[in-house]
This record gives sequence, C-alpha cells and structure tokens, in this order.
Amino acid sequence: MKDIRTGLGYDLHRLEAGRPFILGGIHIPADFGPVGYSDGDALIHAICDAMIGALSLGDIGQHFPDTDPEFKGINSMILLEKTMNLVRKHGYSINNIDSTVILESPRISPYMDPIKESLAGVLGIPADRISVKATTNERVDATGEGRAIAVYTSILLIK
Ligand code: MG
Repeated sequence: MKDIRTGLGYDLHRLEAGRPFILGGIHIPADFGPVGYSDGDALIHAICDAMIGALSLGDIGQHFPDTDPEFKGINSMILLEKTMNLVRKHGYSINNIDSTVILESPRISPYMDPIKESLAGVLGIPADRISVKATTNERVDATGEGRAIAVYTSILLIK
C-alpha cells in the first residue's frame, strides 16, 4: 500500500468594501473583498493549510506568520508555491483536492474553471484533480450575512 496522507484546511476572511476580491488567484469583480494581512485569498490559504496538515507540519500561521513583513500584502499564489515545494521536499505529490467555498455573493460559478486552472498551474497537477464547490450559508451567520468568506479543503497526498 502506498504512503498516503489526508489533510484538512480551513480559512475565513472578513469582507469589506473597497478591497479587491481574489479567490484561487483570480480577481472576481465585486465592490468588496477579503480583508487580510496578505491578499486574503481564503481558498489558497485553506489549501495551504490542508497541505501543511497532511504533512503534520503545524498550520499556515506558523509557516507564514502575519507578523513577518515578508508576507504583508503578498500574492497568495506565492504562498501556494512555497507550500507545494514543502510537499515535494517531503517526497509527496497531490492526488486530489476538494474545497467548499461558503460565500453569499458574488456568484463565483462563472470563475470556477479559471480558478482551477490557476491552482493547477502552480501545483503542477491536472485541473481535473482539483474540485472547487460553492455554497451559501442561507443568510445565517457572518458568512450568510455576506460579512465573511469561509473555505474548507480536504487533500490527499501520495508518496
Ligand atoms: Mg487566511
């Protein structure tokens, strides 16, 4: 049997007016966006968190602390690349990724293919090994009221 490891990732960012809306490295037109020390890309952060978790190497905050000026306003695609390098360094490759984005608006379904292609390019895997799903929280709680975006990710690594 192959050496396989699963990982679970989670992230949430507050949404505020006047911020660019970046998800999976893709800019989505909206007059609000995620607040964060980096660009606030919750999908990429959840994926990084899942990769780091699968490797049992702590969490994303330990690897990219929000006290380090290197990461202020950083494009999260760079964090994704660094985390993928960590996966490779430990001898693993990604079998597949599944994510659920919880967001009231804007509608992200028209951007799913570009998001998957953008992630696949950095991760070096085919886009059909990446699943990104979207749901709302039925207007209940902070995400449902449109005040936040949350993402859950699960990942399978194979050595
Ligand atoms: Mg984050």
